[in-house]
Amino acid sequence: MPLPADLPTPLTPIRDPVLARAGVELRLKRDDLLHPTVPGNKWRKLTPNLEHALAEGHTRLVTFGGAYSTHLRATAAAARALGLASVGVVRGEELADRPRNPSLAAAEADGMQLEFVARGAYRELVRDLGRPLAQRWGRCLVLPEGGSNALAVRGTAALPAELGGLDGRDTVCCAVGTGGTLAGIAAGLPPGARALGVAVLRGEGYLEEEVAALHRAAYGRTFANWRIDHGHHGGGYGKVPAALEEFAAGFGERHGIGVERRYVAKALQAVYGLAGTAALPPGSRVTLVVTGLPDGPTAAGTGLSRS
Ligand SMILES: *Cc1c(COP(=O)(O)O)cnc(C)c1O
Repeated sequence: MPLPADLPTPLTPIRDPVLARAGVELRLKRDDLLHPTVPGNKWRKLTPNLEHALAEGHTRLVTFGGAYSTHLRATAAAARALGLASVGVVRGEELADRPRNPSLAAAEADGMQLEFVARGAYRELVRDLGRPLAQRWGRCLVLPEGGSNALAVRGTAALPAELGGLDGRDTVCCAVGTGGTLAGIAAGLPPGARALGVAVLRGEGYLEEEVAALHRAAYGRTFANWRIDHGHHGGGYGKVPAALEEFAAGFGERHGIGVERRYVAKALQAVYGLAGTAALPPGSRVTLVVTGLPDGPTAAGTGLSRS
């Protein structure tokens, strides 16, 4: 294991009268506590890729992301911990001369070389896995946007085995950005249990295709035990409407757990919204995967506690 982590992460039961009235049991899979600088699903997705990089003798990782990409930041931290160089291709040429946001500042502080490219060019680069720029970087391992590839899916597929006996009443729920995490969780479930992804961006149809493509890449087949909810993205990627902010802050206060807003809060709000409906009928047990850390000082990678 190239980056030692705190596994298995804890399962925290949530007692809440709203869910109790709907007949739904909720527990949180605390992957936010997995690793201080490469949290949650990013560790699960990166680890098999890092093993591959080291086995192949790579000294440099290249990957892609938006300005607030947690994947870029996690890749930079992981590369640094392993003594690998890293390059991050960032969407948005105009960001090059602006003060760095906390995500990009953290990636740069971990030694990541940032390359800012215009949106159109970025889309082409992502599709071609950076080939047009490859001569700039020399020999390197290229990870796709969001880090979702076959190895990443197999990494995430280990998660359900940490949840104890799952059966027909179980739904494992996670936020969906690129779909790698959902694809892995679905693939790792025992028969009867289901996975529910909550899209954090407008991606109806497209995201389903991505998950199915990842399943084919990782397992040579598709799975029928998952679906994606498209009703809780809050208007798009990175958008946090006031009602979502209020919901996440209220949950944090009641249960003493900080909720990351761009992904985890949307998935959590979906669980509350769907509890008691046909999607999560009475008698359901939901395990929500807390895929990452809230922004802010607690996300800096120091002094994280399990309290
Ligand atoms: C990156 C990220 C996701 C999205 O994971 P995908 O595998 O890209 O769908 C979900 N939650 C958090 C906190 C993340 O940082």
